[in-house]
Amino acid sequence: MKDTRYTVVGAGLAGSLMSILLARQGGQVRVVERRSDPRSGLEMAGKSINLAISHRGLHALEQVGLRQEIMDQATPMRGRMIHATGGALIFQPYGTRAGHAIYSVSRGALNRALIQAAGREPGVHLDFDCVCRDVDLDSATVTVQDRSVQEVRQLQADAIVGADGAFSAVRSRMQRTDRFDYQQSYLTHGYKELTIPAATGGGFAMEPHALHIWPRGRFMMIALPNQDGSFTCTLFWPFTGDGCFDALTTSVQVMEFFGRVFPDAVSLIPDLAEQYLGHSINSLVTVRSRPWNHGERVVLVGDACHAVVPFYGQGANASFEDCVLLDRAMRDHPGDRAGAFSAYSAERSPHTDALADLAIANFVEMRDATASRFFRGRKRLERVLHRLAPGLFIPLYSMVTFTSVPYGEAVRQARRQWRVVILLMALVCLPALMALIGILVFLVRGM
Ligand SMILES: Cc1cc2nc3c(=O)[nH]c(=O)nc-3n(C[C@H](O)[C@H](O)[C@H](O)COP(=O)(O)OP(=O)(O)OC[C@H]3O[C@@H](n4cnc5c(N)ncnc54)[C@H](O)[C@@H]3O)c2cc1C
Repeated sequence: MKDTRYTVVGAGLAGSLMSILLARQGGQVRVVERRSDPRSGLEMAGKSINLAISHRGLHALEQVGLRQEIMDQATPMRGRMIHATGGALIFQPYGTRAGHAIYSVSRGALNRALIQAAGREPGVHLDFDCVCRDVDLDSATVTVQDRSVQEVRQLQADAIVGADGAFSAVRSRMQRTDRFDYQQSYLTHGYKELTIPAATGGGFAMEPHALHIWPRGRFMMIALPNQDGSFTCTLFWPFTGDGCFDALTTSVQVMEFFGRVFPDAVSLIPDLAEQYLGHSINSLVTVRSRPWNHGERVVLVGDACHAVVPFYGQGANASFEDCVLLDRAMRDHPGDRAGAFSAYSAERSPHTDALADLAIANFVEMRDATASRFFRGRKRLERVLHRLAPGLFIPLYSMVTFTSVPYGEAVRQARRQWRVVILLMALVCLPALMALIGILVFLVRGM
């Protein structure tokens, strides 16, 4: 693969990481990104201000020597802090060990660190303000519009990596080829971000080491801490229908709604109505596609091939993991790019499909179940079972968040574990039930 020429489309999280890995394999990598260079001080606007990084993402960052730099800027979140409507707070740990945590990081800072690292690689050339307008799949040619000089150029390479996000221009070309499977679906809910500023005099206005959730049945709000003491809140709410984003159009309506539904948040956001009415509503899409390669010429990574909704906090983690797996597949198939791309696509895509299902299911769990005693009881039981048999029972959340067990395998293992637990419980309970029936029969006959 040495001296292979790559065009990477997109310098988001996956594209910038992949360009480093390709350069370290000896590739000549040209990255085209439609946004401006964040190293010049411009903030890379994105889908969310901050995001949660966990084991898979940190493992990938470690491969390129960035783990510690990112951890130094991260705020650990050790569990969920549930905010009941009445104001009560309940903490639910995420993990089974004291050290288990997920990490809130600034998306802009993370992306900037990756782009800086890519820029330090001798084999990487970065072109910002360059939009991919079209792709010729068979000749690996990308047509780009360079907005800085108002020029359209053709970039020819040996292979293209499509890392241009959920609405990928590279994938949209692949969608027009024979037997390419593609599925896109939107949630009926959208999201809006709001900021809780740092407390007066500095510091956090709420517990910093938790992901805060206000579960309200059909909808919810969450908040992740930022290093400057602020929190970024995300309100997930239906676009239309009874009780939805459309319903709040005036400051009075906003204050009445938040005062009734999220009363403890109102005092923490002094300019609540202004923020609410000024901030955009964004949509939540799931994308599934297959195959992720076009022979040896094109391969996809990240949201370009599998966008998932954010409720398992895994989209970026999975995108980073793709890069590590593609890098490994290429090392395992020296001199056979088509074989490497096909193996990566075939082995990885069932697992990101499983993640897409998990992410949608977790939305219901977060907005509804987290508030219930049953949910808390189940989580406690999972922790007890894990402590009793750490090698045999690992909660699904732990496998997804704190290990690299492939997503689909984690789902299957979790199902197997619960089947065994239910069987054991039945075996333990059966003699007791028989004895109870025996006593009842004896008593009835004796009467
Ligand atoms: C609200 C929200 C919260 C989230 N929270 C989390 C979380 O807590 N944890 C987590 O792991 N994941 C989270 N995610 C998911 C995560 O954001 C994505 O999975 C991740 O950003 C995917 O990275 P990517 O590089 O594949 O795509 P992107 O980050 O979308 O990057 C794509 C890049 O390609 C560029 N581009 C696009 N089109 C073109 C073009 N035609 N030409 C040139 N460049 C182009 C874009 O400008 C961008 O820089 C969240 C997502 C959302 C929406």
